[in-house]
Amino acid sequence: QPLLQGQVAIVTGASSGIGRAVAKALAGAGASVVVNHLSDWEAARKVVNDIQAAGRGAIAIEADVSQEEPVQSMFRKTIEAFGTVDILVNNAGIQQDAPFVEMTFEQWNKVLAVNLTGQFLCAREAAREFIRRGIRSEVSCAAGKILCISSVHEVIPWSGHVNYAASKGGLMQLMKSMAQELASHKIRVNSIAPGAIKTPINRKAWETPEAEAQLLEKIPYGRVGIPEDIAKAAVWLASDDSDYVHGATLFVDGGMMLY
Ligand code: NAD
Repeated sequence: QPLLQGQVAIVTGASSGIGRAVAKALAGAGASVVVNHLSDWEAARKVVNDIQAAGRGAIAIEADVSQEEPVQSMFRKTIEAFGTVDILVNNAGIQQDAPFVEMTFEQWNKVLAVNLTGQFLCAREAAREFIRRGIRSEVSCAAGKILCISSVHEVIPWSGHVNYAASKGGLMQLMKSMAQELASHKIRVNSIAPGAIKTPINRKAWETPEAEAQLLEKIPYGRVGIPEDIAKAAVWLASDDSDYVHGATLFVDGGMMLY
């Protein structure tokens, strides 16, 4: 049977880019999916329609992941709709770039709020539900899976993007500390660190042939990534096929970390 048959997944920021590909891939592997989005109703509805057309359950839920009440409400609505939740993919993220000395307090706070606090708020709600419910042995040997979408910049510094690099560096410790603390509850926690993936967030880095050629100099494998590269890794990390992988960061980056 499909790897994620009968499981329920929440994917944050799933109306575009990596989140959309992850939502579709989890559904393709048998999961029912909550397509979280931020005021992006039309695009989210399209993702839901595509998943439903493929015969899987899906709903769209609007929630700003950086706000406590909307996140809690998203989990309540998920449980109302599907009865439970088994997988959280913490994907929503933003960039607000500026040279360090020009970076505003607002740019700093906003990126930390979405990329780090947002991951904390969603993971905390997921862990609460996983602990309350325990293992559903008919669908998985773990009580729940939390997957953090990080970045190679959790370890590689990034000038001009210090708020982003700091948020992902913080996320690395959030993930590892959660993994340590939640292991006794049989909750599995891991990260995927994408390299350069063609999505709206980094359009400037690949949209012209010159920009793409410059980017390719940093990618040994010789091509820019696509959202489906991340989605395939996410299905594996969310499934029992990776049951002994815990507290790990999987770099899906065409070898970018080799430089
Ligand atoms: P994207 O802009 O297509 O996706 C980000 C999504 O998050 C959007 O749908 C956006 O609406 C949503 N979002 C933003 N703020 C939100 C909030 N407060 N609440 C809920 N949703 C919110 O870009 P992407 O590349 O698909 O990014 C997805 C994740 O992948 C991010 O965490 C990003 O840091 C990470 N990442 C991307 C790359 C890349 O090269 N594209 C590389 C490394 C890491």
